[in-house]
Amino acid sequence: MAPPLERSRAWMAQGTTVLDQALAGTEDDTLLGPTRLAGWTGRHLLAHLAANADALRNLAAWARTGVETPMYSSPEQRNADIEAGAVRPVGELREWYAVSAAALAADLDGLDERQWQHPVRTAQGRTVAATEVPWMRAREVMVHAVDLGTGVQFTDLPEGFLHDLLDDVVPKRSSTPDHPPLTLREEAGGRTWQVASPGPDAPEVTGTAAQLAAYVSGRADGSALVTADGAPSPTLPPWL
Ligand code: ZN
Repeated sequence: MAPPLERSRAWMAQGTTVLDQALAGTEDDTLLGPTRLAGWTGRHLLAHLAANADALRNLAAWARTGVETPMYSSPEQRNADIEAGAVRPVGELREWYAVSAAALAADLDGLDERQWQHPVRTAQGRTVAATEVPWMRAREVMVHAVDLGTGVQFTDLPEGFLHDLLDDVVPKRSSTPDHPPLTLREEAGGRTWQVASPGPDAPEVTGTAAQLAAYVSGRADGSALVTADGAPSPTLPPWL
């Protein structure tokens, strides 16, 4: 579940800054090479982030006008647009990313209280209030800043964001059929999260908020986490 609107908007703004700074410190040549996402270069990631901002602008327009405007016309179209974008010059992709991100922020700034409550549909087919849009974008910019692979780590992301990410991902994982049950424990007297109703014999893994968030978002295999009996952390199915 998304955090409250004002916090989501703060995470979206902060995450955009994190990503902008990561991109500013990355050479064009590096963006031609691989990222931490299998099969994706920096250009794929830039094209995806720009297309995502445009897609979320469609939801902002839907909330503002009441006229149904889906994020993408189809999953195939979404993937085709990323592939088409990934062969464009890096300079063009940087421009598309910057312009689309600014336009999305401006569109959201323009929504009034009633428009924020308007139902819209995510790319996964969930119907949510438009208030979820900034959170959807915050997740994209924060986590993909790490995926870029040019220096940003989960430990660089705000702890409050990492907690909100865990609060969002854990219930989604719990509703995934046949998901392995487990307890996530934040070290040093922090919080706990229960995935898929763990019984007394279910594994418990302990780590920092950054380690737990990397694990549940499918960005780490859990080998950095501590389990009670020293067994490896369970292998998790993909998220999203
Ligand atoms: Zn994404």
